[in-house]
Amino acid sequence: MAYSVPSDEEIEDALRYVMRRLKGVNSLRKLRELVIKELQNTDPEYTVSSKRLRKLAVTAPFIHTEIYATRGERKKSLKGRCPVCENKLETTKNETIFGGTVTLGYKCKRCPYWTTLKRRIPLRYNFEYKMEEKR
Ligand SMILES: [Zn+2]
Repeated sequence: MAYSVPSDEEIEDALRYVMRRLKGVNSLRKLRELVIKELQNTDPEYTVSSKRLRKLAVTAPFIHTEIYATRGERKKSLKGRCPVCENKLETTKNETIFGGTVTLGYKCKRCPYWTTLKRRIPLRYNFEYKMEEKR
Protein backbone atom coordinates (compact mmCIF):
# COMPACT_ATOMS: atom_id res chain seq x y z
CA MET A 1 0.00 0.00 0.00
CA ALA A 2 1.31 3.44 -0.90
CA TYR A 3 1.42 6.26 1.61
CA SER A 4 1.76 9.97 1.18
CA VAL A 5 3.25 12.19 3.83
CA PRO A 6 1.29 15.27 4.84
CA SER A 7 3.06 18.44 5.99
CA ASP A 8 3.01 19.63 9.60
CA GLU A 9 0.59 22.38 8.55
CA GLU A 10 -1.82 19.89 7.00
CA ILE A 11 -1.73 17.73 10.12
CA GLU A 12 -2.26 20.78 12.32
CA ASP A 13 -5.24 21.88 10.24
CA ALA A 14 -6.79 18.43 10.48
CA LEU A 15 -6.09 18.38 14.23
CA ARG A 16 -7.68 21.77 14.71
CA TYR A 17 -10.74 20.72 12.76
CA VAL A 18 -11.17 17.50 14.77
CA MET A 19 -10.61 19.22 18.13
CA ARG A 20 -12.97 22.11 17.36
CA ARG A 21 -15.69 19.68 16.46
CA LEU A 22 -15.25 17.20 19.33
CA LYS A 23 -13.79 19.46 22.06
CA GLY A 24 -12.04 16.49 23.62
CA VAL A 25 -10.52 13.16 22.63
CA ASN A 26 -9.40 10.78 25.36
CA SER A 27 -6.86 8.67 23.55
CA LEU A 28 -4.04 9.14 21.10
CA ARG A 29 -5.23 6.16 19.05
CA LYS A 30 -8.68 7.67 18.66
CA LEU A 31 -7.24 11.08 17.83
CA ARG A 32 -5.01 9.51 15.20
CA GLU A 33 -7.93 7.72 13.54
CA LEU A 34 -9.92 10.95 13.40
CA VAL A 35 -7.03 13.02 12.07
CA ILE A 36 -6.17 10.45 9.40
CA LYS A 37 -9.80 10.35 8.29
CA GLU A 38 -9.69 14.13 8.03
CA LEU A 39 -6.36 14.15 6.17
CA GLN A 40 -7.66 11.62 3.70
CA ASN A 41 -10.25 14.12 2.52
CA THR A 42 -7.26 15.91 1.03
CA ASP A 43 -5.32 12.87 -0.13
CA PRO A 44 -6.68 9.32 0.28
CA GLU A 45 -3.14 8.02 0.81
CA TYR A 46 -2.27 10.36 3.66
CA THR A 47 -1.29 8.88 6.97
CA VAL A 48 0.56 10.01 10.08
CA SER A 49 2.46 7.98 12.66
CA SER A 50 1.22 8.17 16.23
CA LYS A 51 4.63 9.48 17.31
CA ARG A 52 4.50 12.39 14.87
CA LEU A 53 0.90 13.18 15.72
CA ARG A 54 1.64 13.05 19.45
CA LYS A 55 4.48 15.54 19.08
CA LEU A 56 2.29 17.95 17.14
CA ALA A 57 -0.73 17.53 19.41
CA VAL A 58 1.04 18.08 22.75
CA THR A 59 2.69 21.27 21.52
CA ALA A 60 -0.30 22.67 19.58
CA PRO A 61 -1.47 26.03 20.99
CA PHE A 62 -5.12 25.00 20.71
CA ILE A 63 -4.82 21.75 22.65
CA HIS A 64 -4.55 21.20 26.36
CA THR A 65 -3.03 17.77 26.99
CA GLU A 66 -3.22 15.72 30.13
CA ILE A 67 -0.59 13.03 30.42
CA TYR A 68 -1.33 9.95 32.51
CA ALA A 69 1.81 8.17 33.50
CA THR A 70 3.10 5.31 35.55
CA ARG A 71 6.19 5.31 37.71
CA GLY A 72 9.23 3.68 36.21
CA GLU A 73 12.75 2.89 37.24
CA ARG A 74 15.00 5.55 38.61
CA LYS A 75 18.04 4.24 36.82
CA LYS A 76 16.66 4.74 33.34
CA SER A 77 18.09 7.92 31.90
CA LEU A 78 15.97 10.40 30.00
CA LYS A 79 19.01 11.76 28.15
CA GLY A 80 17.63 15.26 28.50
CA ARG A 81 14.83 14.69 26.01
CA CYS A 82 11.12 14.64 26.64
CA PRO A 83 9.62 11.15 26.02
CA VAL A 84 6.43 12.77 24.76
CA CYS A 85 7.53 15.49 22.33
CA GLU A 86 11.33 15.03 22.20
CA ASN A 87 12.05 18.61 23.19
CA LYS A 88 14.56 19.62 25.85
CA LEU A 89 13.84 18.89 29.47
CA GLU A 90 14.53 21.41 32.17
CA THR A 91 15.82 20.37 35.57
CA THR A 92 13.54 21.22 38.47
CA LYS A 93 15.49 22.08 41.58
CA ASN A 94 14.84 22.91 45.14
CA GLU A 95 17.01 24.97 47.43
CA THR A 96 18.33 23.18 50.46
CA ILE A 97 18.69 24.75 53.89
CA PHE A 98 22.44 24.62 53.37
CA GLY A 99 22.30 27.02 50.44
CA GLY A 100 22.77 24.42 47.75
CA THR A 101 20.28 22.95 45.36
CA VAL A 102 18.94 19.47 44.90
CA THR A 103 17.50 18.08 41.68
CA LEU A 104 13.88 17.05 42.07
CA GLY A 105 13.19 15.98 38.55
CA TYR A 106 12.61 17.34 35.10
CA LYS A 107 9.95 19.17 33.18
CA CYS A 108 9.46 19.74 29.50
CA LYS A 109 9.73 23.24 28.06
CA ARG A 110 7.21 22.60 25.29
CA CYS A 111 4.57 20.20 26.58
CA PRO A 112 3.01 19.35 29.98
CA TYR A 113 5.30 16.39 30.68
CA TRP A 114 7.16 16.41 33.99
CA THR A 115 8.84 13.76 36.04
CA THR A 116 10.51 13.18 39.34
CA LEU A 117 13.80 11.30 39.45
CA LYS A 118 11.67 8.17 39.45
CA ARG A 119 10.82 8.60 35.87
CA ARG A 120 7.17 8.87 34.88
CA ILE A 121 6.36 6.81 31.84
CA PRO A 122 3.52 8.28 29.76
CA LEU A 123 0.71 5.78 29.23
CA ARG A 124 -2.32 7.63 28.07
CA TYR A 125 -3.30 11.08 26.89
CA ASN A 126 -6.37 13.22 27.12
CA PHE A 127 -6.65 16.05 24.62
CA GLU A 128 -8.93 19.00 25.14
CA TYR A 129 -9.64 21.82 22.78
CA LYS A 130 -8.79 25.27 24.05
CA MET A 131 -9.26 28.66 22.50
CA GLU A 132 -6.18 29.93 20.78
CA GLU A 133 -4.69 33.09 22.15
CA LYS A 134 -4.66 35.90 19.67
CA ARG A 135 -1.15 37.04 18.89
ZN1 LIG B 1 7.56 17.46 25.98
